[in-house]
Amino acid sequence: MIKTFKYGGIHPDDNKISAEAAIETVVPEGVVRIFLSQHIGAPATPVVARGDKVKVGQLIAKAAGFVSANIHSSVSGTVTNIDLEADHLGIKKEAIIIKVEGDEWMDDIDRSDNIPKEIKLSAEEILKKIAASGLVGLGGAAFPSHVKLSVPPGKTAEYLIINAAECEPYLTSDYRIMLEHAEEVMIGIQILKKAIGVSVAYVGVEVNKPAAIAELNSLTSEYKGIEIVPLRKKYPQGGEKQLIKAVTNREVPSGGLPIDAGTVVHNVGTAFSVYEAVMKNKPLIDNVVTVTGKNLSVRKNLLVRVGTPVSRLVEIVGGIPENTGKVIFGGPMMGKAASNPDAPTQKSTSAVLFMSDEESYRKTSCACIRCARCVSVCPMNLEPYLLKRLAERKDFEESEKNSAHDCIECGSCAYTCPANIPLLDYIRLSKTEVLKIKRNRK
Ligand code: SF4
Ligand code: SF4
Repeated sequence: MIKTFKYGGIHPDDNKISAEAAIETVVPEGVVRIFLSQHIGAPATPVVARGDKVKVGQLIAKAAGFVSANIHSSVSGTVTNIDLEADHLGIKKEAIIIKVEGDEWMDDIDRSDNIPKEIKLSAEEILKKIAASGLVGLGGAAFPSHVKLSVPPGKTAEYLIINAAECEPYLTSDYRIMLEHAEEVMIGIQILKKAIGVSVAYVGVEVNKPAAIAELNSLTSEYKGIEIVPLRKKYPQGGEKQLIKAVTNREVPSGGLPIDAGTVVHNVGTAFSVYEAVMKNKPLIDNVVTVTGKNLSVRKNLLVRVGTPVSRLVEIVGGIPENTGKVIFGGPMMGKAASNPDAPTQKSTSAVLFMSDEESYRKTSCACIRCARCVSVCPMNLEPYLLKRLAERKDFEESEKNSAHDCIECGSCAYTCPANIPLLDYIRLSKTEVLKIKRNRK
């Protein structure tokens, strides 16, 4: 049976125009800039200095606390500086800058093609390994994976849910991982199950990826306790709360976390990196980035070392098309327009999307016509037109009463509004203010 979530949702054209492009490895060259903060939580603390020689996979910055992540060198070469660098939003953050020299890896990383299957580590050892390897969620938020896997006292995990929906238009990196590394993904899921002590995992995949569903299904007899769940193609099917509802019919309470519904959710790309960390001793030094756009001469899924300048990826796809209006890091719905298109990639960079002037043109908005379409598509059952009005009035107490903090910033309301009102811009403002109110109250 094809499953989906209960409220709202939209059906944008999926534009998976890079789906047939097999993953290609980008050979590192020039310089990489690796941010100390590319995860939710405290920035990591450097353990190298200018002039140090480093190898691929070597620890270069240590997690500064539990909610933080280790950073490893993605290249071999010389540390030339530790300095402020602009990210894709133009925000300056500390980064370790390394001049690439050759491609020398740490000796303890298994780079062979063999796929080890026996999981020898205990649950506790797996968590330690995942933390040591600097793994973060690859579905967007970049939350340190070991934190997400640590079930708080008093809570119980019953199911692991793997988010393989990839519902954002244009993105195809998860799809290619499922096609080209299905077995490693299944082993990664078994490792995650062992880490949180559950016997059942569900993998939610949208039905517009039949080849990936078939590939994973062909392995379920060997990898017990994993069920592949076909999901209706509906945005935002990959939202954590929507996925949990679709797969288990459970609701995460307002302000709650997946564990409040007895679930732990991880992205399929994260399952692959868990396999690499635990079975191959490879820290998170690269990830698959979809480089796409209707006007590009070629679109690709590239295995990119963390810290690679986007200009390198642009070269590989034949340069930026003349009529490009926006470069987006991520997908068109939840990604962010880059003000610095030469920024380095980060651990959770899933895509670089080139949109034409025409596609990215923001239409002039007019007055609300009270059609309620924004209400009918909101997957969180909110009233976006009302939240917008409250934000305009700066009435954030009332915004809280109307659950502005539950907005998952999916953009469905703004996408569907016939008056072209940028609803999400207003709701984001409310959400920030409501979260401040809640923090102050605590
Ligand atoms: S952006 Fe927020 S308010 Fe708008 S549809 Fe999505 S969840 Fe609802
Ligand atoms: S969709 Fe736009 S026009 Fe319709 S009620 Fe919502 S804000 Fe108003």
